[in-house]
Amino acid sequence: ATPMSIMTATGRGAQAGVLIKNAEALEAFERVDTLIVDKTGTLTVGKPELAAVLPEAGHDEAEILRLAASLERGSEHPLAEAIVRGAEARGLTLANAEAFEAVTGMGVKGVVDGKAVALGNAKMLAQLGVEAPAATATANARRDEGETVMFVTVDGAVAGLVGVADPVKETTPQALKDLHALGFRIVMATGDNERTARAIAGRLGIDDIRADVLPEDKARIIRELQAEGRKVAMAGDGVNDAPALAQADVGIAMGTGADVAIESAGFTLVKGDLGGIVRARRLSLATMRNIR
Ligand code: ADP
Ligand code: MG
Repeated sequence: ATPMSIMTATGRGAQAGVLIKNAEALEAFERVDTLIVDKTGTLTVGKPELAAVLPEAGHDEAEILRLAASLERGSEHPLAEAIVRGAEARGLTLANAEAFEAVTGMGVKGVVDGKAVALGNAKMLAQLGVEAPAATATANARRDEGETVMFVTVDGAVAGLVGVADPVKETTPQALKDLHALGFRIVMATGDNERTARAIAGRLGIDDIRADVLPEDKARIIRELQAEGRKVAMAGDGVNDAPALAQADVGIAMGTGADVAIESAGFTLVKGDLGGIVRARRLSLATMRNIR
């Protein structure tokens, strides 16, 4: 590629809300046939809101939320922010957690008011050795509606559920339609639960889902697709997505996302609008055609 044509493409990209890091990214993108997209913050707004607090029998709703939020003050995860905001909106006074620990892809744990509290998904429960068939059934029903549901355990038993809802970005449905029309195979990869993922993917016509994945799994999924001969672009926003963005033939970061994601990516979508990928594809095809 000539420096001139790349400069032109870079300038046009910037106007269209896509920052292109270098010529390699633009060239590689022309050959991409598979697009992996993270869910939270990429397909969705990434600003989840507290939707429900469901105490188990014998437990108090406000107390469950207070314990959960006290713990989540130590986490920067969007789910944590939703829970803390929800608790504050209800006027709850939060405590300071001790021995706070964030377990990637699972949740958080620590000690609040002398009680061992944990908050997270089924993997977190498994790690704690806690079984909760009834709470799991309740959680699943809400997940089928697209909510992310977390278990709250207190002193080793499930005390309640916390549900959080994160709406799909306004720009996402049209962008996915256009990306399909351009011939991309679209795969959602998310650390979230299979049911929640399926509920959201179903509405968007996504081709395939990889749910319950850990951050290192996202990079592995990409390596496997590459081993099958696929050219893979990955769109993501989180610190957790950085290894996958680096592994992909083209990493696409949301400008609204974490700095480390942006640093790991070849493209940045300034406003986090996936429609930017459609514009980048047209640009990459046009640029490469001019060069040949
Ligand atoms: P995503 O790929 O959707 O951005 P993550 O890998 O960050 O998801 O998180 C995966 C799952 O782990 C979440 O859906 C949630 O169930 C659980 N989790 C992660 N961090 C937290 C947290 N701070 N509090 C509660 N649950 C969490
Ligand atoms: Mg994310």
